[in-house]
Amino acid sequence: PPMTIAYDLKASVRTIPDYPKPGILFRDITTLLGDARSFRCAIDELVQPWAGSKIDKVAGIEARGFIIGGAIAHQVSSGFVPIRKKGKLPHTTVSMSYALEYGSDIIEMHVDAIKPGERVILVDDLIATGGTAEGAIKLLRQTGAEIVAACFIIDLPELGGAAKIRDMGVPVRALMEFE
Ligand code: AMP
Repeated sequence: PPMTIAYDLKASVRTIPDYPKPGILFRDITTLLGDARSFRCAIDELVQPWAGSKIDKVAGIEARGFIIGGAIAHQVSSGFVPIRKKGKLPHTTVSMSYALEYGSDIIEMHVDAIKPGERVILVDDLIATGGTAEGAIKLLRQTGAEIVAACFIIDLPELGGAAKIRDMGVPVRALMEFE
């Protein structure tokens, strides 16, 4: 279950109806990021279980996962690894196809970004169907990473993504839920 946070972080997320298409309630975290207290509170809460434990890398999913993942990496004194859409990374990559609502897409990571056995936290802003996170976990596992957890600001539990990721043996941490 989502934890209780003293500060009302959920109120700092803005909802945009019908974006990017009709029927979607887009959960916009730019308002959370833009508020100094909310941003700090979110990062502090997300990393709380790993205070004092060794994390080698935080892997952030393009693009909002870069913002949150960078802050988390700094907080836990780890390195940061970008997981990007196909064709954006300059060095040799490993890639993985992942399921979208309609069709599929490809994410990539530098082949030498993570060494076997390194302890990694995966980060994105939101988990919906879990297709993106599932692809990222498969990609990270190709490199021999030990995935300590997958962290999100927002979980949409009705879409089943968090349950799917837990079924892959990866603990999921999210700060709030929306229907
Ligand atoms: P999924 O692969 O279905 O779990 O979708 C997760 C990705 O899509 C994340 O990178 C989110 O940023 C984005 N996303 C999906 N649904 C929403 C939503 N309702 N509001 C904002 N972002 C979303």
